[in-house]
Amino acid sequence: MEEISHFVDGQRVNGVAGRFADVYNPATGDVIARVPLASAEELDGAVKGAKKAQPSWAATNPQRRARVMMTFVSLLNRDMDRLAEALSKEHGKTLPDARGDIQRGLEVAEFCIGAPHFLKGEFTDSAGPGIDMYSMRQPVGVVAGITPFNFPAMIPMWKFCPAIAAGNAFILKPSERDPSVTVMLAELLQEAGLPNGILQVVHGDKVAVDAILDHDDIGAVGFVGSTPIAEYIYARASTNGKRVQCFGGAKNHMIVMPDADMEQASDALVGSGYGAAGERCMAVSVAVPVGDATADALREKLVPKIESLKVGPYTADADIDYGPLITGEAKERVLGLVQSGIDAGAELVVDGRDFSLQGYENGFFVGPHLFDRVTSDMDVYKTEIFGPVLSTVRAESYDAALELAMDNEFGNGAAIFTRDGDTARDFASRINIGMVGVNVPIPVPLAFHTFGGWKKSAFGDLNQHGPDSFRFYTRTKTVTSRWPSGIKEGAAFSIPVME
Ligand code: NAD
Repeated sequence: MEEISHFVDGQRVNGVAGRFADVYNPATGDVIARVPLASAEELDGAVKGAKKAQPSWAATNPQRRARVMMTFVSLLNRDMDRLAEALSKEHGKTLPDARGDIQRGLEVAEFCIGAPHFLKGEFTDSAGPGIDMYSMRQPVGVVAGITPFNFPAMIPMWKFCPAIAAGNAFILKPSERDPSVTVMLAELLQEAGLPNGILQVVHGDKVAVDAILDHDDIGAVGFVGSTPIAEYIYARASTNGKRVQCFGGAKNHMIVMPDADMEQASDALVGSGYGAAGERCMAVSVAVPVGDATADALREKLVPKIESLKVGPYTADADIDYGPLITGEAKERVLGLVQSGIDAGAELVVDGRDFSLQGYENGFFVGPHLFDRVTSDMDVYKTEIFGPVLSTVRAESYDAALELAMDNEFGNGAAIFTRDGDTARDFASRINIGMVGVNVPIPVPLAFHTFGGWKKSAFGDLNQHGPDSFRFYTRTKTVTSRWPSGIKEGAAFSIPVME
């Protein structure tokens, strides 16, 4: 059986801790590889290599570092199909969706070609008599990223591209469920000219994660994953004095106003609710039609579209709409939540529980589900399902719909479908959620803006990618300098002020 390796100091290295996790092809249910789970000692070895390599990388001028990113982008384009195939095989998402996963990471690498601009700092000429004042953005040093299974290429690239372009060395602990593509990305960066030790990929579970959180030589930690783990990592790493940003789970609402185009709204709900089998932190999982007439009209449009969704293995390429869930455990969890919705009295309008695919009976496929008349006290509403299940909560009014989304503990994304500019503007202004769509169901900002939720969807101060990423991965140092002509005689004992 294939054994996936770590990537440390410029080469693939086997794990020596003796612990492994199975990696599946979710479409067949077969174990296709095993991934080593690093010990604290192995993690420490990677940090030592990174610490040694980082100073000369930081001293490399920013344009040269940016050129590595430029070459990396062209190599990603060259190898797009090979990367997408490896990603789909372990994750299960369709090939076009896997290419999108890589592309959205590639766009952050493209953005990082502009690193010299973001690292410029500020300068005040003659801040006092003969005094100049300037601030520099310096890399933190060795930093780390811990990433989830659902975007195995995009999210690692969101983390390591800005960190590396800013002059840091990066320890990546990818998801142990679909780890292969990250090693391929590290090899491409090396081919692009990145010195050895600047991107270290160390696979693992809680043991490796805890070793990152407690390591004295790691200055910053970026995490993306579920909310309970985000809270844990935020608390432990910040107690250890690190800079931390943790992005967690979501429950994204899409409000459908009576004046919305129902054809467009239903298409948007089907794509955003069931794409990638609902395993997206920006998936719409709650439809909120305003008024019973809207709810009925929307349901009438939705049902045939959901019933005709094509579910299958990634090898069917563009002929399928979504693939299997990541593990058998994830499948059981989703089906359990569906049962809880039925037990709580929600109306199961489309039932995907009996879905089975000839030749893929052991795959982790779940058919599409649609619930109507869900209420906010039900588990199926409160829990992030992370599967192909869309819940409809009927709202009496726009205000009730707004309040529902605002009262939800998560705050990643929200959307409104309407033809009315005033309503859309009011929604965008009042909603307490980080990313908002107006007639756009999955409002994932592009690389030059920042990505991040509010409430229990994010912990820490700065967002991912965009200008915030350079702020997160750099420290500001401010220098006040005076040359002899500006120095007056005698010591000063009170704080200098400008008169
Ligand atoms: P997860 O929390 O199970 O795992 C994320 C990472 O944490 C993995 O690398 C994993 O190895 C590690 N981990 C897991 N358990 C741990 C523990 N007990 N201690 C220390 N580390 C641990 O998340 P997942 O299932 O891989 O990903 C899905 C989740 O990620 C969903 O909740 C989804 O909403 C969220 N997500 C959020 C965003 C965002 O930007 N807000 C983006 C993508 C995914």
